[in-house]
Amino acid sequence: MSKVYEDTKFLMKKYGITANKKLGQNFLIDEEVVNDIVKYSDIVKEDLVIEIGPGLGVLTEKLLQKAGKVISIELDKRMVDILQERFIQYHHFEIIHEDVLKVDLAKLIQKNKEKFGLKTVKIVANLPYYITTPIIMKLLEEKLEIQSITVMIQKEVAKRLTATPGQRNSGAITYTVYYYAIPEEIRTVLNTSFIPEPEVESEVIKLTLREKPVISITNEAKIFELIKVAFMQRRKTLLNAIGNSFTNVTKEQMQQILQQLDIDLKIRGEALTIEQFAKIAEQL
Ligand code: SAM
Repeated sequence: MSKVYEDTKFLMKKYGITANKKLGQNFLIDEEVVNDIVKYSDIVKEDLVIEIGPGLGVLTEKLLQKAGKVISIELDKRMVDILQERFIQYHHFEIIHEDVLKVDLAKLIQKNKEKFGLKTVKIVANLPYYITTPIIMKLLEEKLEIQSITVMIQKEVAKRLTATPGQRNSGAITYTVYYYAIPEEIRTVLNTSFIPEPEVESEVIKLTLREKPVISITNEAKIFELIKVAFMQRRKTLLNAIGNSFTNVTKEQMQQILQQLDIDLKIRGEALTIEQFAKIAEQL
């Protein structure tokens, strides 16, 4: 059995830990997967690494060997206490007991980069699956100064996040990810790689943040609202979806816009590229 497995078993027994399902606790026990996450994160000494949901610290331990500083954000107080004790000897480790969705990440990043003279910021995590989407959206939409996000998530969500907009598997979030980042699938992970085993399949993905968004648009809020409406009714044609639900636009106006842009009137939102959505948003 691997060290990661032994460590997890030992810590669970020592502290009487049972996984809290509500907090998405599935502890990684597969050494190869832990090593791959760290490897593909490309961590160097100049990096500030922010880990979301460290749990018992299997990933944290390896991140600490590579990074200039590791800040782990954990909601479960039991884990916070364990990690404070487990990594007491590491002066470049900090744990924050908080819901990651409530943390002011921009402030945290700025403060730590300055204080420790670190150059780049990377996010690494085996995410709690029940809040994968809000976490990814927060990381992207807050326009944080981060270089990459390497995370384990539910396989089905991974397919959506890494799809090419306008092609198979794409959803509204595909466009947001593609706008801000270059997505990559790293590897799939068996259910037996965790205790307890999750009910869904898992995958590791990496999002490398673009220096600037893939296209320049004047009104970001509008294009993403448009995409959201198009995908809420993805079985309908774009004309019907938007014509019925988008504020202040009649079906006739929408038809004119599509004709002007030479877009098929029968097209569904899910088949549009981000550039086409941007052009429509500009006309609205
Ligand atoms: N990193 C550990 C591992 O790989 O074994 C644990 C991963 S487990 C899938 C997800 C972790 O996220 C748990 O430790 C859980 O307590 C924590 N968590 C759940 N909700 C959270 C939130 N809102 N903010 C921060 N951490 C959270």
